[in-house]
Amino acid sequence: MHMRTVYVNGDYLPETEAKVSIFDRGFLMADGVYEVTSVLDGKLIDFDGHAVRLQRSLDELDMKNPITKDDLLEVHRELVRLNGIEEGMIYLQITRGAPDDRDFAFPDPETVPCTVVLFTQNKPGLAANPVAQKGIKVISIEDIRWGRRDIKTVQLLYPSMGKMMAKAAGVDDAWMVQDGFVTEGTSNNAYIVKDGKIITRPKTNDILHGITRAAVLRFAEEAQMTVEERNFTIEEAQDADEAFITSASTFVMPVVEIDGAQIGDGKPGSVAPRLREIYLEESRKVAI
Ligand code: PLP
Repeated sequence: MHMRTVYVNGDYLPETEAKVSIFDRGFLMADGVYEVTSVLDGKLIDFDGHAVRLQRSLDELDMKNPITKDDLLEVHRELVRLNGIEEGMIYLQITRGAPDDRDFAFPDPETVPCTVVLFTQNKPGLAANPVAQKGIKVISIEDIRWGRRDIKTVQLLYPSMGKMMAKAAGVDDAWMVQDGFVTEGTSNNAYIVKDGKIITRPKTNDILHGITRAAVLRFAEEAQMTVEERNFTIEEAQDADEAFITSASTFVMPVVEIDGAQIGDGKPGSVAPRLREIYLEESRKVAI
């Protein structure tokens, strides 16, 4: 791959020269938060939403934000420019920094600044992803993550294991289930459509409050579609007319099979593709 220019604590460096301490709490304790913002037409999609959620994640973990929103926007834009990104993603991670030694107690934020890392992921064709024409298949797995999934931490071991379980089952992703109800996908929010109604789990500590979720639900309501925020089961999903996921990098993606059971006729229906189209069109208009 072409050598990227990445950002580490104020510096723009070739990716091979960017370094973080072995004592960094992101590395030792998964003590860090992240955001992924997509880029279309060389512009940032939903930047504001991601910046607001980042601040909330930091607040919930008592981490002092080391960078202003304006500066963060500037770094995002500079990385897009330096790396010539037309379509792709910007990954951002902020950790509680690197104290002198390993210790469970948080370091003093006055002497140990947070670590800030950003890098680009070039994905030409992200919006025109042909997978959206066919939809994806998922399996269900038990949700055994911690209780604060609303905080976007870098603690992604279980979601990674979920992706591997999906791969071993020959499908694309996994939907997680807690007490009989779907929480979300490994890296996306989950929805079903029944009799024209869009059904998705309400925002609690049990799921990440997706930025794409917020935008898609807003566009759905503006298009006079009915949105019902409530829990649903795998059985209900298998019996639904449609299913789909949302995330910053997949936008809106139809789901056509759950645990081997075909949804509807096994092809994307009308609601998910329409929402994908509206989301892409409207987000591009206000991209910055
Ligand atoms: N849920 C989880 C667990 C995620 O990891 C993600 C994104 O990474 C999402 C939902 C979707 O959030 P967003 O739309 O902000 O990308």
